Amino acid sequence: MRQLLVAGNWKLNGSLELVFALLSGISDRLSEVGNTEVAVCPPFIYLEHARRQLQGLEIALGAQDCSDQQQGAYTGEVSAAMIRELGCKYIIVGHSERRHLYSESDATVAMKFERVRESDLIPILCVGETLEERESGHTEMVISRQLDAVLKRSGVGGFRHAVIAYEPVWAIGTGKTATPVQAQQVHAFIRGRLEAQDKEIAAHLRILYGGSVKPDNARELLQENDIDGGLIGGAALKAEDFVAIAAAGDA
Ligand code: PEP
Repeated sequence: MRQLLVAGNWKLNGSLELVFALLSGISDRLSEVGNTEVAVCPPFIYLEHARRQLQGLEIALGAQDCSDQQQGAYTGEVSAAMIRELGCKYIIVGHSERRHLYSESDATVAMKFERVRESDLIPILCVGETLEERESGHTEMVISRQLDAVLKRSGVGGFRHAVIAYEPVWAIGTGKTATPVQAQQVHAFIRGRLEAQDKEIAAHLRILYGGSVKPDNARELLQENDIDGGLIGGAALKAEDFVAIAAAGDA
């Protein structure tokens, strides 16, 4: 059985005060969550603060991105190895905001994925199509292209300790959620592609759904066979909503 994972992507939000309050709110309600693993991904600058506040709690820590380089003259970059030192377990790579707003190519995302693995952390690889791509019938082609770049660099073995997040770009921060059927179709497609290369890896791989997940739509999404949790943006900034989503996984 795959343990569900609900991870909060806080994006460029927060202040020391908000980090403290949000983590306190989540930890105070954690007993509402059963078997689902809970993770939070605050901005880099708050990771150390979060690490200290989360000590002894069953909440994993993740970063939202990392450099595609390990070290050297790359001003402003943060490496996966540095993130590891801050007690993180996960690093999100290839979020659509990175791909679209910062022009990250599939090859760059694949390199970041590999850097995360080299640091013994778990990449959360985001894939997903735009509305235009979906409407022109190219969803599977886009997802395949995004997956193939990583498969080419890391091989199917790279997915033994990795998580994929399917995040249709048209559903991120828009209030539009993919229906459970739409999401399940793409999740099954992703698992199928990996299964063709390694059945065991595909069977254990957690595939999260992301895109306007809220407490009132989480349960039906998380009940689908190939949906193994959620990557949560907006709703992750409200402790009550975030915990309710994580708790929905156990229902
Ligand atoms: C995200 O950015 O990863 C995300 C899923 O955002 P939201 O939940 O706000 O759509």
